[in-house]
Formats: sequence, structure tokens, C-alpha cells
Amino acid sequence: MAGTRRVGVAVLGLVLGASLLTGCAATTSGAGRALTAMPGAPGIGDPYFPLDGNGGYDVTDYALDVAYLPATDELTGTAELAVRATQDLSAFNLDLVGLEVRSVAVDGAPATWTRDGGELTVTPAAPLADAAAFTTVITYAGVPATLDDPLGVAGFFHTDDGALVVGQPDVAATWFPVNDHPLDPATYTVRITAPEALEAISNGVLTSTTSAGGMTTSTWRADEPMAPYLVGMAIGEFDVRAYGQGGIRYWDALDPALGETGAVASASLARQPEVIAFLEGMFGPYPFAAAGGIVDDVGELAFALENQTRPIYAPSFFSDAVSGDVVVVHELAHQWFGNSLPLARWRDIWLNEGFATYAEWLWNEGEGRGSVDEQFDRIASIPADAAFWTLRIGDPGPDRLFDPAVYLRGAMTVHALRTAVGDDAFFRILTEWTGRNAGRNVTTGGFVALAEEVSGQDLTELFDTWLTTPQKPDLP
Ligand SMILES: [Zn+2]
Repeated sequence: MAGTRRVGVAVLGLVLGASLLTGCAATTSGAGRALTAMPGAPGIGDPYFPLDGNGGYDVTDYALDVAYLPATDELTGTAELAVRATQDLSAFNLDLVGLEVRSVAVDGAPATWTRDGGELTVTPAAPLADAAAFTTVITYAGVPATLDDPLGVAGFFHTDDGALVVGQPDVAATWFPVNDHPLDPATYTVRITAPEALEAISNGVLTSTTSAGGMTTSTWRADEPMAPYLVGMAIGEFDVRAYGQGGIRYWDALDPALGETGAVASASLARQPEVIAFLEGMFGPYPFAAAGGIVDDVGELAFALENQTRPIYAPSFFSDAVSGDVVVVHELAHQWFGNSLPLARWRDIWLNEGFATYAEWLWNEGEGRGSVDEQFDRIASIPADAAFWTLRIGDPGPDRLFDPAVYLRGAMTVHALRTAVGDDAFFRILTEWTGRNAGRNVTTGGFVALAEEVSGQDLTELFDTWLTTPQKPDLP
């Protein structure tokens, strides 16, 4: 994520202790072993957002089929989830904010359900065995919610000509039932039906477009697993530019209403192949088959997000070419740091934002806008008594996930590591980190261990100083 303004607001979803499931154990003794089935947990176990995600299963694939009518703001959806149980389950939760659930089926049989806040509890007709693969199909409808979250206004934007879905950490549950945490990435098919005058863009590659009865259905497929918050959707009037370069398929979507801003955005997005090649030189091969960017004319949107293979950008970033190019670098760096390597818990957000910001510094250096050392020194000139230095970026708290210090001190941490271990070890750490962990959830502890292994140095003190000491580090 990159923010043009960052406003601290109350975090939705922090309802500690609410809706703990205490249902009775269900037992069955069919042909197989006896099951002692319990409800899955209502949260996946992230202390920052206790009700985000759920326990007891992993989703492997989502097939979302959504229709959206801008005239009424209403979305009608069918979500088919391919799931694997990780315990004997008598019931399980999905995350869903608002929207009316119309039917739920598990393995083709009708299931019952209850709602409690953002939790949808599904009780299948018969318990599910640990390790069993099963499908869940949910039909639903309603007007999706726009959120106030750590980014500011986010979630489901009802725009002048359509819709834009973008947010972090909470957004997916505003428009489909989901195990809403990066600990459970999955593949996605997103099939969007909208009035035929409009374009509909999501992640991955466009596999089909069909029209009937004044509506067009566009089907997008993402074969590489993706955290739920990275699933984006844009419906509206767009100039769509599709092209291939370097083995990557690009779809760029620019709102024609943007005028001069759109021209700057178009030029910055045209540099994506160059940016990806630049980043590949340091981070290893680009991890996905597709790329591209979406710029929609939405006044309330004040950030850019690294939606997998297709970041979504607020138009305000494209006030000038330098700002535009740099935000594209930032969001493309996240395709490695945050997307290919999703966080195991939100506390470690610096692993995303510190590296994406460091990529900006490296890019700026290449463009002749000051060396990385000079960019480091500019932040280092912030006085020691400034509040900037008091945030423990290794544990910033749920409402300061996107504090400027997470980005800037995060990038300084990366540079402090480079200074300590030298360029050879540093760049080997980066490619080992992205190579070994592609498609896996990561933690700060895992990064520190790898950095120590590659460098042969004890880095405990360095990371303690930079990540968890709430004061300005001593600088040479
Ligand atoms: Zn970011």
C-alpha cells in the first residue's frame, strides 16, 4: 500500500471475545472412523484482528460469479469455494460484512447458517472429516459496504459509473464470503457481469468476454494463490490496454475522465516492463504471469494498493511523472514482498512496506535522484525527539499498520542490514528470501534467521534496535 494521506481511524472488526463458538461436539460413525467434530474457530489467530479469517479449514480456490448494477448499487453473487478441512468440523465460519445470504450448500446439500456481525457460521448437514475436500456454494446479494479502516476510506466504492473494490487489511468480506486473512491464499476465478457499456477488470488474465441481454460478463483467472485482500475489482468506463512483454501479459485500465492526470498515469504504467526488469535484477524473477494497473477517477480514494498482478492507484499519485513512476515501483515491488510472500500475521507489515519503500530508493538512485545513502540520511535527519522514532515498527499495532514510520524506518532497517552485511550478502539475502519463500507465508523471525544464515552474522541486536526499540537508533 502507498498512502497519499494517512488518517488514524477506529479499526473495524476488533471485537475481542465476541461470538466465540461453543457448539456441542457432533459425532458420527459411518463407514469410516468416528468423528469428534467441533466448530472451527471464528478467527484465524491474528491478535491484531481476532475475527479476521477463521479456523478449521483452508480454501484452495474461489469461483466468484458477481453481477453489479451501478443504477442500484446492488451486487448479486454466487461464491463457490473449494475447501479442505484441517480438523473434524461440525460447523465453520466465513467472513462476510453485510449482504443478505440467500442459500448455502456444502457438497451439494443444503446447509444451515447464522450471522453475527462479520461472521457467517455454516453448519453442514453432516460433519466434515479432517483433511476432507469439500465445496461450499453461497448465494448472496445486497449493497456492499464502504469501510473506514487503517487506510482511510476503503472497501467497496460505489463510483459515478460503476464500482471499485480496494482495501487492506479488510476488504474481501465486503463483497464475497471469504476466509479473510493472508494466511489462507487461494486461486481465484472472478466472473463479473455488468451493463455492456462498461468494462470489468480483476486480477490475473482475462479468459473470456460474453454479452447477452445488454450485459457483459468478463471472466478473470488468477492461477497463482493470492491473499483475499489482494483480489480487486473495477467496473466502469475504462480505456483498457492489453499487451504482452517479456513473457508477462499486461492489462492496464485507465478512466477516460482523468484528463491530464490520466496521461501521466498512462506514461508511468507504460514503464511497468522496465520497472519489473529493474526489480527482477534484485528480487529474482517476477512471480506472476500477468501485470498491469487500474486508475479510476474516485475522489475519496487516497491510496494505492498492490492488488496481485493488477495494482489499483488513486489518481492523486499521478500529479507528476516522478510521483507516478515511484508509486508504480512501490506497488510492483509488493508483487514479491507481500504478494508472492504473504504475511503470516499483520504485525510484520514492515516486511511488506519497508522493502517496497526501499525499492523506491533503489529506483530513485537509478534515476539520478540521490543515492540510497542520501535518501537514508534525509530520514535520519529527523530529530531524535520526534514522535516518528517512537513507533516500534516490528509491532506497530493494528491502527498504525500504515504509519509513515513503518515505511521509512522499515526502509532504513533494510539499508542498515545492507550496511552491516555488505552488498554481496545483502542481495543474496533478497533473492534467497523471495526464492525460497515464494507462495509461502512469512514472518520477521524467518527473515532474520535467513539473513543470519546467509551473512554468517548474529543480527539480533541490529533488528532489535531497528524494529522494536522505540527511539532513534545511534547512527554513524
Ligand atoms: Zn506499500
